[in-house]
Amino acid sequence: MSLESRTADGWATTQFVVLGFGTAGYACADSLIQAGAEHLVVLDDRDTEALREKAQILETLGATITLGPGSTAELPKEVDVVVTSPGVPPHAPLLAQAAERDVPIWSEIELAWRLRDPATAAPWLCITGTNGKTTTVQMLTAILQAAGHRAVAAGNVGLPLLEAVMDPEPYDVIAVELSSYQLHFTHSMSAHSAAVLNLAPDHVDWHGSMEAYALDKGRIYANCQVACVYNVADPATEQLVADADVVEGCRAIGFTLGTPGLSMVGLVDDLLVDRAFIEQRATSAQELASLADITPAAPHNVANALAAAALARSFGVPATAVRDGLRGFRPDKHRIAHVADVAGVNYVDDSKATNPHAAQASLLAYEHVVWIAGGQAKGATFDELVIAARERLRAVVLLGQDKQVIIEALERHAPDVPRIVVDATDTGAMRIVVGEAAKLAQVGDTVLLAPGCASWDMFANYGARGDAFAEAVRSLAE
Ligand code: ADP
Repeated sequence: MSLESRTADGWATTQFVVLGFGTAGYACADSLIQAGAEHLVVLDDRDTEALREKAQILETLGATITLGPGSTAELPKEVDVVVTSPGVPPHAPLLAQAAERDVPIWSEIELAWRLRDPATAAPWLCITGTNGKTTTVQMLTAILQAAGHRAVAAGNVGLPLLEAVMDPEPYDVIAVELSSYQLHFTHSMSAHSAAVLNLAPDHVDWHGSMEAYALDKGRIYANCQVACVYNVADPATEQLVADADVVEGCRAIGFTLGTPGLSMVGLVDDLLVDRAFIEQRATSAQELASLADITPAAPHNVANALAAAALARSFGVPATAVRDGLRGFRPDKHRIAHVADVAGVNYVDDSKATNPHAAQASLLAYEHVVWIAGGQAKGATFDELVIAARERLRAVVLLGQDKQVIIEALERHAPDVPRIVVDATDTGAMRIVVGEAAKLAQVGDTVLLAPGCASWDMFANYGARGDAFAEAVRSLAE
């Protein structure tokens, strides 16, 4: 049986089991049918009206769909490949059984890679990291489009990667966001170029350990063809490049907020420059853009822009397109978004800072900060953040389920910083939080919602949390 290409006869005779019937699972099952798979079983422990409707569509095309509690307890006897969904942990019973029986397990990304049409396939420029993935993938897409390419952002953002790959009108290039979950079960991908933006503890429960999480992130570099882009300020990312098995000739390219060395992109005064993809790189650098082209020019966002620029340059994009793409780009909502100035105080919504590493990056972008923090900490610790940011903290207002872990870090490393604890958890809680923050802020300060925690204890998601903040700020202004 050959599973090497989308045209191989093997697809018709291969027994596929798709685990999970959410967006990714549906896309996998549907694509497998389109690719000629004739033996397809889809399993999901959930059973809803919406899932049953989707199931009916695939059943008419010959798939067998089993929904409801217990459906994923047992791996079917007849199976050659399991295609799994991103939310399913590797220790889930069905995956554990597959591993025990040496049945290959593929992510949606692996499937998409194998389903590419070799004749028309678009190269992939891939991005992962603990924080900044979505922003960087979108910046990269903007740059590629400014260069006149038919480009799209896909993967863990926007479009499912399978849809981008199967699009009847082929793309020139795809900017791919990959999560560590997706990378875990990705084996044969060979990116044109790939970047790991940064590495900090997150999702450790899913991966089992920080080492396992880092190893999964590093899989993005495997078989990479042109450039492995790493963060000079985060040596763990460079180590992943050193450990990767890449295509011969593939280069290691660093990005840095400092002056770039050879084979790096970086900053010289207020200019983003390239010392990696020009012929005279040993002696000179090429200007790409200026800090004024990046909004907001917070250091971590400039780092994202440099990473995007490095990937775009590895694909041959001219310097002017880097500038034009960055100039027109604005991050998605709730990512260091300016809400309003009220009484000389700057209010910023970074509700998407759902882990301490992200919150720390935001805090370091402002000189004097009243920090709004708390929520579900997912087992994270805040000591490093407090040590890095304590000089900037005017005060801290705490909310949510796991505020105690933040309070303890503050007690250890910044005991003199004033703290207000808000115990309310109802819909009015954010108004109280913002009211307290306003009382503590001085003219010229920033009140920053960068909770460093997930939002689900009090809000539907980080978007709702950011909206509640913005609404409370607006009512303050009134
Ligand atoms: P992701 O897709 O990885 O979650 P986003 O681009 O959505 O990343 O940004 C999420 C949050 O991470 C932002 O709101 C910001 O707080 C933080 N962030 C963005 N870029 C970086 C970076 N390069 N380093 C650290 N934190 C970052």
